[in-house]
Amino acid sequence: MSLGRFRENNRMTERLAESIRNGRVFHAYIIEGDRLADKEGFALEFCKAIVCQKAPGLGCDSCPACRKLEHGNYEDLHMVEADGMSVKDEQIEELQEKLRRKPFGERNLAIIKDADTMTARAQNRLLKTLEEPYGAAVIMLLSENTENLLATIRSRCVTYRLADEKTTAEMPGTEAAEAIFGALAEGAGFASLKSLLAEKMKSREDAFALLDGLERIYEALLTEKDERYRLYRKEKIMRSIELIEEARRDLLAKVNYQYALKNLLIKIGGTQW
Ligand SMILES: [Zn+2]
Repeated sequence: MSLGRFRENNRMTERLAESIRNGRVFHAYIIEGDRLADKEGFALEFCKAIVCQKAPGLGCDSCPACRKLEHGNYEDLHMVEADGMSVKDEQIEELQEKLRRKPFGERNLAIIKDADTMTARAQNRLLKTLEEPYGAAVIMLLSENTENLLATIRSRCVTYRLADEKTTAEMPGTEAAEAIFGALAEGAGFASLKSLLAEKMKSREDAFALLDGLERIYEALLTEKDERYRLYRKEKIMRSIELIEEARRDLLAKVNYQYALKNLLIKIGGTQW
């Protein structure tokens, strides 16, 4: 699905993608978000974006590295999670040993879940690693409450805050996506789709939101949560989702947003007409 699936965080994923492409990967990140936010999912997509050779900065989901990360058997990824109520000193010690070893690929990666439950000793131990990172290793700390982390740890990490979940109707792009989807369903011609697009989309930000909105609609059709699913063949719905993902990749790769969206509507229209 790539980093793009974190729809509420487009601006953030765009920045991340750019820093990875420019070879500016930092050695430690805090990924903060509330209990419901999919911090682990985000961290995994982030790992793919870092190691993927096919789509650097994004992750392709099809190369061996991306697939292994998806299936939890990537050799260079080391995971730590709370043992009972907290992440303990010994766990960090064990992690440090693993990070010291030469990776199979270019770098070791570590995800520390429940990082805000680390004991004081564990935090102090980790701090040493943050002060003197091992080679190209990247450590991601997943946290609900970053206040529980030592200020000295926080200051050595780049922090990303995952946006809170919103209801579909509140999400930006929902209204525009419904209008476009409706027009597609009615078999509107390209000229009227183009003018609808011009009306609903004034910026790159709008373009991302519109893609998100469209993808939510097609996903609801795919999972049959949206009654309109009966009107479409499953393959058409799946193809439309692929095309939306493709358009999102184009946007992340800095393709002109109007061009990317027009191109999408031509193709998606083609799957329906
Ligand atoms: Zn890949």
